[in-house]
Amino acid sequence: MSQVAERLSAVRDRVEIAARQAGRDPASVTTIVVTKFQPLPLLQELHRLGIRDFGESRHQEAREKAAELGDDAVWHFVGQLQGKKARQVREYARVIHSVDRLSLVDALASEEIATDVFAQVDLGVDPARGGVAPDALIPLVEAILAAPGLTLRGVMAVPPLGEDPDSAYERLESLSERVRALAPAASDISAGMSGDFGAALRHGATHLRIGTAITGERPPRG
Ligand SMILES: *Cc1c(COP(=O)(O)O)cnc(C)c1O
Repeated sequence: MSQVAERLSAVRDRVEIAARQAGRDPASVTTIVVTKFQPLPLLQELHRLGIRDFGESRHQEAREKAAELGDDAVWHFVGQLQGKKARQVREYARVIHSVDRLSLVDALASEEIATDVFAQVDLGVDPARGGVAPDALIPLVEAILAAPGLTLRGVMAVPPLGEDPDSAYERLESLSERVRALAPAASDISAGMSGDFGAALRHGATHLRIGTAITGERPPRG
């Protein structure tokens, strides 16, 4: 077995165990493999190993990879998104996890393509990681619900550095409840990375975004 195959299988086992420990059905959890900065052959290997959900964070790179990999791959855009690139990302990404401001909703809105989106929340004091302030989440959600072509799946967050992920994800879970009061179908939670997916699963995560635990270290960004 290749190293990637071994890591993938180990992570699958760990996700299944963590889901059960959290009282969750492992089948209700989607693992997205975050392949940003990784070379195409690695993605092709993951595809051969059965992976279909890929996460990318830079438009140019994501578009190139999407053009190369099979049509059955599902692209999740997880990075910060500039308004002027928004429409182009919709051409290949089925899901955008990083919708964090009203101007981006306006830029994305279009009846021509159907795109699922998550509202990204900033749980800490690190605006560099993106996300809407919790008290501005509901207006953002209302704008997404009203936007043509966008379907709100739920909330997304990256836990603040240095904070216990359980307490960060607990806040995300209660924000998710508030969103569901407004939009019952928007019940998904995109949370959980290589180092904290156990905590995310304890707090309702439905979409894990796992990179290095499966891919190995990322090459330096080019
Ligand atoms: C890179 C990235 C991940 C994956 O992080 P790992 O620690 O490699 O698992 C998840 N979510 C976002 C938004 C990312 O940018």
